[in-house]
Amino acid sequence: MANQDFPLIFELSQESRTGFSLPEMDVPEVELPMDDVYVRKEAADLPEVSELQIMRHYTALSKRNHGVDSGFYPLGSCTMKYNPKMNEDVARLTGFSHIHPHQPEESVQGAMGLLYDLQTTLASITGMHTVTLQPAAGAHGEWTGLMMIRAFHEENGDYNRTKVIVPDSAHGTNPASATVAGFEAVTVKSDEHGLVDLEDLKRVVGDDTAALMLTNPNTLGLFEEHILEMAEIIHEAGGKLYYDGANLNAILGYARPGDMGFDVVHLNLHKTFTGPHGGGGPGSGPVGVTEEMVPYLPKPLLAKKGDKFVFDYECPKSIGRVKPYYGNFGINVRAYTYIRTMGAEGLKKVSEYAVLNANYMMRRLQEEYELPFTQHCKHEFVISGKRQKKLGVRTLDIAKRLLDFGYHPPTIYFPLNVEEALMVEPTETESKETLDAFIEAMLQISNEAKEDPEIVQEAPHTTIVKRMDETTAARKPVLRYIKEG
Ligand SMILES: *Cc1c(COP(=O)(O)O)cnc(C)c1O
Repeated sequence: MANQDFPLIFELSQESRTGFSLPEMDVPEVELPMDDVYVRKEAADLPEVSELQIMRHYTALSKRNHGVDSGFYPLGSCTMKYNPKMNEDVARLTGFSHIHPHQPEESVQGAMGLLYDLQTTLASITGMHTVTLQPAAGAHGEWTGLMMIRAFHEENGDYNRTKVIVPDSAHGTNPASATVAGFEAVTVKSDEHGLVDLEDLKRVVGDDTAALMLTNPNTLGLFEEHILEMAEIIHEAGGKLYYDGANLNAILGYARPGDMGFDVVHLNLHKTFTGPHGGGGPGSGPVGVTEEMVPYLPKPLLAKKGDKFVFDYECPKSIGRVKPYYGNFGINVRAYTYIRTMGAEGLKKVSEYAVLNANYMMRRLQEEYELPFTQHCKHEFVISGKRQKKLGVRTLDIAKRLLDFGYHPPTIYFPLNVEEALMVEPTETESKETLDAFIEAMLQISNEAKEDPEIVQEAPHTTIVKRMDETTAARKPVLRYIKEG
């Protein structure tokens, strides 16, 4: 794969060229015990290059990455919004970055105060009683919440509640978390409007229902209008309502899961509250609960006693610790900074613009792409590449063609209940010019599908790596440089 402007670092290697200079040795040389298993028997076969060459190598590599700082990233369900750099400054303050989780509580009262403030702020944003910051990601929050629901039912001697209901549009982590928490995942269908089919919900609910897991707006970007009725159906059957908060960006300051009847809620701070997460880095998936569920929260609980913050370990019904220490602190600092810079009014505006941007884009793309659900959307929407497929251009081809325009493609083939799905989430931080340019690219691709399908089928044309065999890349990745000859 080597090419002119990007030679492989191993191919630049020249014997005895070094990228370092050390002062002359001023200590006696010693023989290493060669029978020690930790002493390598042969020198590593590393490239011998200069400091400048290695610098250029890594800089070139970094430029090949696509991130929200380099281009538009409308990956549905992932909320790839801009991550304000102010968050980074605050997270790097030595009072936050140089502390250790084993320090005595008296010496980290400021950090504990920040976490406490974040907990209570998230509780008021979601309408929940108490929030834990321990879980490290959304999926981890799901599992934590379901373990609490399990503990609740077991406490009531309700051992037959073995089923967790998830909509057919649900994110894959929902049924996966249910399974890992020891439940059986049961599907409830969506109706012709893309919402949970109430009749089907009544059919699957029963005295074996532990919980319904739902995101609202759902993964089609549509608000579940009958949420109060659904809450009643589940609660009457003795089940709990679990809220997957990945889509909170759509309703900040306008609606709260607590008011919709949810008992347990997880948030994705790395999505809604601007933690950088393109490379799968550290996340944060706080879980909020109603008062009734508080005893089951992971321990320790961060509490305020007088004007001191303390970690409370006296929680006999707690499901236990779900993460070493107290959650991904640095991401929590970033989320806190974001919330404080935006303020309540600012957060409302976030959702307003996120919803406006998505609707604007959806209505313009509707000219060329099939729109399976025609009502207004919230922060994201799903279109289908069905028409283009008839011309021999698949949704995967459209996604690959978008790379030629410098965009990260939308989420594709998800949710599963839409054929040839393209799920687009523009987010509130993008300008109208960016939205328009992306729309133009999508319209152009649709034209190409009609007039010159090969250009789409063979895309990408401008990237260094062309069309990959994605299955082989995932199953049998080649991760090492192998010297030819
Ligand atoms: C991202 C996402 C999750 C999982 O969150 P992670 O933080 O990636 O573990 C769950 N549900 C939905 C709808 C999501 O978009």
